[in-house]
Amino acid sequence: MSLVNQLIGALGAHSGALRIIDLTTPLSARTPTLRLPSPFLNLIDFSLQEVSAYNAPGPFWKHNNIHTGEHIGTHIDAPIHWVTGREGRDVAQIPPERLIGPAVVIDKAAEVQKNPDYLLTIDDIKGWEREHGAIAPGSWLLMRTGWSQYGDDRDKFLNADATGPHSPGVQAETAQWMAEHLPISGFGVETVGIDAGCAGGMTPPFPNHHHLLGHDKYGLTSLRNLDQLPVRGALLIVAPLPIVGGTGSPSRVFALLDQGAH
Ligand code: MN
Repeated sequence: MSLVNQLIGALGAHSGALRIIDLTTPLSARTPTLRLPSPFLNLIDFSLQEVSAYNAPGPFWKHNNIHTGEHIGTHIDAPIHWVTGREGRDVAQIPPERLIGPAVVIDKAAEVQKNPDYLLTIDDIKGWEREHGAIAPGSWLLMRTGWSQYGDDRDKFLNADATGPHSPGVQAETAQWMAEHLPISGFGVETVGIDAGCAGGMTPPFPNHHHLLGHDKYGLTSLRNLDQLPVRGALLIVAPLPIVGGTGSPSRVFALLDQGAH
């Protein structure tokens, strides 16, 4: 039997041996989005604009215009999003082979529960590899933080006070090490961006964007349901729109895993 037929046979409508987990945040005007401080300009939030709804402008159909920034909701960051990747790929140029690959999950939910500003260390990743084996080429490293529990509450999700936003991310040296030494396709998070809330004050500013996008590695944000994934053994499928010249795109993200896996 061909590999594709084996896969079809394992899907839910058939044997159910394979589960599909949707890791995507529903996209609406209520989806929490990044808020840059002045003087920086923000993207627009997502919205639907009705054009017809089985009425005079379109008696037999309903259709809407969508208005959205690129980096809204669950979305991918393409290299040209960052100044370090400006000569790199736009979102339409990311090869499909880089968008489908093994998911590896590093679980820092307990640490983040105690400290919302938790920053992933190189030792965290090396420790994961000692326990679970080397991270395979083409993997997506997903940082589980539990942050998606705040995803329906903008204030809690952004978690800003007078000193700025407080949300987890990675240390600057971790970002550089991942970019230069880990054979990953990208790095995914539950938070609004791939850098920590406090990352504007790091050197360089927003180091995960700086290093990963400068090394043709991609970012993936606002993921949900990471608690349903095994630490390794799931297959990630990232599906952004091929926006020509786009610096990113809202994306549907699925994980495939064996029914018994956790
Ligand atoms: Mn982005």
